[in-house]
Amino acid sequence: MTCSTCNDSGWKTIQVNDIARVIRCDCRREVLIEQRLQEARIPPRYRRCDLDNFIVYDNEQLLRTIDRARKFIDKFPVVSKGMVLIGPPGIGKTHIAVSVLRSVILSTGARGLYYDTRGLLRDIRSTYNPVLNTAEMDVLRPVMEAELLVLDDLGAERLTDWVEETMSLIVNTRYNERRPTIFTSNYEDIPEGEPQSLLVRVGFRLHSRLREMCEFLEYDGPDYRNLPPNADAEDLYKSWKAQPRRKLPVKSGEPARAQLRNLTRKHEKADLKWTGGRGGSE
Ligand SMILES: [Zn+2]
Repeated sequence: MTCSTCNDSGWKTIQVNDIARVIRCDCRREVLIEQRLQEARIPPRYRRCDLDNFIVYDNEQLLRTIDRARKFIDKFPVVSKGMVLIGPPGIGKTHIAVSVLRSVILSTGARGLYYDTRGLLRDIRSTYNPVLNTAEMDVLRPVMEAELLVLDDLGAERLTDWVEETMSLIVNTRYNERRPTIFTSNYEDIPEGEPQSLLVRVGFRLHSRLREMCEFLEYDGPDYRNLPPNADAEDLYKSWKAQPRRKLPVKSGEPARAQLRNLTRKHEKADLKWTGGRGGSE
């Protein structure tokens, strides 16, 4: 169907202070936004996520998180910090993160990208070239250059030197270019040397960078996946209050303090020297 505004030229004339200016027609904008949504790699189950269809209840930390998410959407692209959404599995962190991503794309046409952290590392590894000792930029470049990136499930991948270097490269590049990132993680940000802390899961260097570039938003709640599909705010609230206070999993093995010591020591060494190598060895 021919666009009645621009006659399919893609441009329309508007008056700005009595001066005629030519701008992109809305019909092209819709096409662009549809394309941006397609390119954002949002998994099918999250494609309808919106803050307006996210059920909230009387949970101060959750309400604060939603409030910060809405402010982020309103201010984008003029945002100085990204977000780290922290809490147990199933409380809607991905829903919130993807809602922000979708809203930003819909309102600004920005280039946004979603990646599950493990999936991203797998994709980078799969392009690793042992002869050239490099990984393809085809995977890395869009991740570094996206105007808004969602990295889901941070800390799920076992921390190895390669994982740490690769994540540092991505995060540092985005930090230097002032491109915001929204992370989600199941690992609590507790300062003491707990093996299941975010710090131990992502490493000292990445953790301190996250602290600089993101606002940390931590909340607790019931697992949405255990609730009936038509659960309302009251059901959620009751379910949340009925569950025991979240306890950190106890893990045997190397004491946390020793792990932390090792991590810290490692980071006293030279700065990032990412070669793209060793990806295949894990
Ligand atoms: Zn048009």
